[in-house]
Amino acid sequence: MTAKTLGRNLEILEKYRKYTDIAELRVDCLDPDERLLIRRFPEQAGIPVILTIRRDIDGGLFVGGEGARISLMARGLAYAEADRRRNFAYLDIEEDLNVSSLEEAARTFGTRIIRSYHNIKGTDADLPVKIRSMRRSGDEIVKVAVMANSTRDVLELLCAGKECEGYEKILISMGHFGIYSRILSEQFDSLFSYCGALSESDTLPAAPGQIEIRELANLYRFRNITRATKVYGVTGYPLKATSSPSFFNTVFELEGSNAVYVPFPADSITDLIDIAKELNVEGISVTVPYKEAIIPFLDFQSDEVGVIGACNTLTLTPQGWLGTNTDAKGFSDSLLKFLNKSNFKRQRVTVIGAGGAARSVVFELHRLGAKVLVLNRTVHKARRLAAPYKFAWGGLDEQGIEKMEKYRDIIIQTTSAGMEGINPDNLSDDPAAMYNFCGQEEVMDLVYKPKMTAFLKRASNAGCNVLNGFDMLIRQARYQYTQFTGKEFPEHFLSRVQFGEF
Ligand code: NAP
Repeated sequence: MTAKTLGRNLEILEKYRKYTDIAELRVDCLDPDERLLIRRFPEQAGIPVILTIRRDIDGGLFVGGEGARISLMARGLAYAEADRRRNFAYLDIEEDLNVSSLEEAARTFGTRIIRSYHNIKGTDADLPVKIRSMRRSGDEIVKVAVMANSTRDVLELLCAGKECEGYEKILISMGHFGIYSRILSEQFDSLFSYCGALSESDTLPAAPGQIEIRELANLYRFRNITRATKVYGVTGYPLKATSSPSFFNTVFELEGSNAVYVPFPADSITDLIDIAKELNVEGISVTVPYKEAIIPFLDFQSDEVGVIGACNTLTLTPQGWLGTNTDAKGFSDSLLKFLNKSNFKRQRVTVIGAGGAARSVVFELHRLGAKVLVLNRTVHKARRLAAPYKFAWGGLDEQGIEKMEKYRDIIIQTTSAGMEGINPDNLSDDPAAMYNFCGQEEVMDLVYKPKMTAFLKRASNAGCNVLNGFDMLIRQARYQYTQFTGKEFPEHFLSRVQFGEF
């Protein structure tokens, strides 16, 4: 609770009560006058409340001296009542704060101590030692909230938690890399997860990477997650915007599966695979830029992955990670339906891009009879992709664009140029800006966010029929569902599946 007044915090609590088990009152966020009135907050809140006065060095707003901070804590605990519901249920004390009188007062009236450590810059190397040394008595809860600057940092925290099994603790990897540590608290052996009423304009995220409370409750069904919950997810980098958690979590909820699907932003595939093992992850969707890089990590693969050279689906089997590719079928199903055709025979097609997605597209175009030109910014990659199929290739330059004259029944844009969340500077990127549409081309862009890329807008303005990547996304996700669960996709749920963002 990070509003400026107690009254506003109570209003917010009321609004989100059904999602809330425990409230953390961040006294440091209150206006100075309000800080003097905190004692009655637990009674007013009507649920267990954590009393926290976070210093600026730990990412909070409290800038006064330690004396003033300790007096405020004492004020919060003063006049303790026999009815514990009227007292703060927890007191957050940093590991370097030594005020035994405060701790004794808390313990006497049943206020549990959360012994906390924050590192807002990075993840310490000696976390198991830190966790063990922090707890001063058996009834304390250890809280470690450290910034993850990489996937390895999250792995360090996860492993430290496992080394200290049996302790009551709260472990949080702050920031974008650690987002799933806030969802998979059970798997991290973490007692609480902290979230925020972030859609309220006057509340702040209490720490980087915090998730909105309704999202945690509704999208990820946080309260239902146990050690028995099957864990799936999507990995990529930077993975700032993905619709897959909405898709899979809605389906899991509708069919009553004990399963959750989370984002795994990763800057290292090696570390991500280690994390997946530690968390018992059963299936991973792979997106930009890892569809090719993931292949050496597979224990075995479908024939298609071998030929395509790109994998977007990892499924854990008794023999290890199986790699498959659902983009290929998702792509051809979508485009053929759009064109009302059953194959691409006699079609001359330009594919822009030669990354992981383009590999699937070119494979399907070949399988279904098209003649193809591959153009890519990095020319040797275009040649590497086109040559095994005996297709034409070129760069995204004047010569390459000239070649398009003979390959323009269908034009397929497969690069990440113009995709939201990749790079805010390239949203207006049009990878084939030199090409003039004549208006007769059928044009597909694999990007689905935004719905209309600069490239697709230009094609549409010239009179072309245009299709974005959304339908392909849904189709490949349905195949992925079958791969993960071994079941047919429940088509009757499709109209109820939402594609929000995480
Ligand atoms: P990738 O393996 O990282 O490949 C990226 C490709 O984009 C490369 O060919 C790269 O060229 C090119 N590229 C990147 N920025 C560019 C720019 N500014 N100008 C020109 N070319 C640029 O990524 P991917 O996995 O193939 O994914 C590519 C796109 O397809 C993403 O937007 C992804 O969301 C989308 N996609 C959609 C679906 C769907 O279901 N709709 C499925 C799969 C992929 P260089 O080789 O020169 O670097």
